[in-house]
Amino acid sequence: MTLDKTSAPMNFVEIISILINNSSVDLNSFFQQTDEVRRTCVGEEIHLRGLIEFSNICRRNCLYCGIRASNSSIQRYRLTEEEIIAAAEKAVEFRYGSVVLQTGEDSGIEADWLGKIVKKIKKMGLAVTLSLGERDDQDYQLWRKAGADRYLLRFETSNRQLFNVIHPPLSNRKPVDRIEILQKLRSLGYEIGSGVMIGIPGQTYEDLARDIDIFRTLSLDMIGCGPYLPHPQTPLGNPETHKNIDLPDIDPKDQVPATAEMAFKVIALARIVCPKANIPCTTAVATIDAQEGRKLGLMRGANVVMPNLTPVKYRKMYEIYPNKSATYLSVEQTHDAVMQTLREIGRIPGTGRGDSVAYLEREQC
Ligand code: SAH
Repeated sequence: MTLDKTSAPMNFVEIISILINNSSVDLNSFFQQTDEVRRTCVGEEIHLRGLIEFSNICRRNCLYCGIRASNSSIQRYRLTEEEIIAAAEKAVEFRYGSVVLQTGEDSGIEADWLGKIVKKIKKMGLAVTLSLGERDDQDYQLWRKAGADRYLLRFETSNRQLFNVIHPPLSNRKPVDRIEILQKLRSLGYEIGSGVMIGIPGQTYEDLARDIDIFRTLSLDMIGCGPYLPHPQTPLGNPETHKNIDLPDIDPKDQVPATAEMAFKVIALARIVCPKANIPCTTAVATIDAQEGRKLGLMRGANVVMPNLTPVKYRKMYEIYPNKSATYLSVEQTHDAVMQTLREIGRIPGTGRGDSVAYLEREQC
């Protein structure tokens, strides 16, 4: 194994050894430690963010994602302003501190239109996180001025070769650097959130360890990761088309598996490298292990859940991967299931906006 000497070598080695899980690592005691770091650094509260997936329209053709532009088998939708506000009102009713407005990369979403919606939601007392993919700088600026607090943009993998293959640039454009975008978002005053998919075909343990090291160097305020889940209507998820993709040629023993256990390790390691970050136990983790995923993630380093507030009639259409957790539950049932999990593990729902401790401390300096 060749290690990247530019990153902190010891930590990188430790990260790899946890990921590969050689016999010297006692995982149970490691998870106990990461839960303890979570308790000490961000406390017992679990912050609830109401997720509003308000458009599945997308101009991109990411090879992994079910709502990619070329998938003609899904019906496309964009919520109206009234529908978005009604979903945000549910967040107020359920006493969530914030909402996350997420979409495909929908160029039909006008910056001014969304800016006005952000202002309205802020007046309701909620913090607002945006996650609309790659947009022009002036849009990020406008939304920040309108009051948006946070921006989520996963860099998906730090392996540039792999990223450029699975996330092709728009035609006539250069490949983008999502890490640069995150830095720009931070300079605009956003809390920044990022993360990766775990077990992307062609992703090695070394790649994943470097991803985690980058969480540290970026001092992320929010870290959301989940297993890669194959979608049959995508080039990467369909065995027929998969073999024609120019993925990195890696030794099969170096391939990261897309398992629940690997996702727990990444959550736990994220807690170690960014102890004060807000770390959700994502829907993909709750999907790959429907019984225990959410609970175990929250017991191994995570402190955030994002209950889905998307109106039920649209949920099935935001199918980035199949069998997404809570697709057929009502908004009330989704909420009840999350609250039940919190009770089972003896944790309490957060009060207030649930700002990142890391962000607040940086602002004070
Ligand atoms: N358009 C926005 C939001 C994309 S959906 C953006 O590009 O940032 C949010 C996240 O879902 C993505 O960042 C990706 O990490 C994850 N995702 C998409 N397809 C997936 C799949 N097949 N398996 C697991 N996660 C997936």
